[in-house]
Amino acid sequence: MPCLALFSLMGPACARLGFFIEEAGVSCLALNASYEPLMIVPSRRAIRLVLDRKAEVLEEDAHRAFRSVRVRHPCPVVIRLVRYVHVPRRFRRQVTNTFLFARDGYACQYCQRHKRQLKNREFLTRDHILPISRGGDNTWQNVVTACSTCNHRKGNRLPREAGLRLPARPVEPNHVELVWAVRRVTPIQAKYIRMFFGEDVVPVGTGGSFSTEWKST
Ligand SMILES: [Zn+2]
Repeated sequence: MPCLALFSLMGPACARLGFFIEEAGVSCLALNASYEPLMIVPSRRAIRLVLDRKAEVLEEDAHRAFRSVRVRHPCPVVIRLVRYVHVPRRFRRQVTNTFLFARDGYACQYCQRHKRQLKNREFLTRDHILPISRGGDNTWQNVVTACSTCNHRKGNRLPREAGLRLPARPVEPNHVELVWAVRRVTPIQAKYIRMFFGEDVVPVGTGGSFSTEWKST
């Protein structure tokens, strides 16, 4: 099945479905046939895929259900596509603070403090290693996570000019892993994401429910 077909399957609302979900706001993790996590889909779309025999249910939520006229089924929370779908990795994601902070482990790259260690009025920011005013750009190689204090101290200078050091040259991250690191998923869904991408991708015990409230400078 080509990629476009997959997205058209996931895309349209299933208004003609003769089902309704008893509790709103439930979403389902869709895995490729290879068990690679693909996307979070609304439950109605997941149900549609299952009813069309395009996906099988791996995990369901017994406390939530969808109904037709005669039957009541538990809501799927993890499904697996029956046929493998090729998903091109062609789209590159822009540097957003959400992904930047995730790449850098939610820690200032200059003082190494984690966001949990910041003081009351401090927050994580985006620092341009070569400042924009001096020709720097917004590429992954030129931006790092910095606490507001280090960012202010650095100002319009290069790190070495400000007496700051970076632990490593920043690189473009693996976006697929980053996407799953910042998604809001349930612990059961997180289990399947870790199985595929490794233990580091989603924090243990929390799902991927990172906050994205940090500010940018
Ligand atoms: Zn800092």
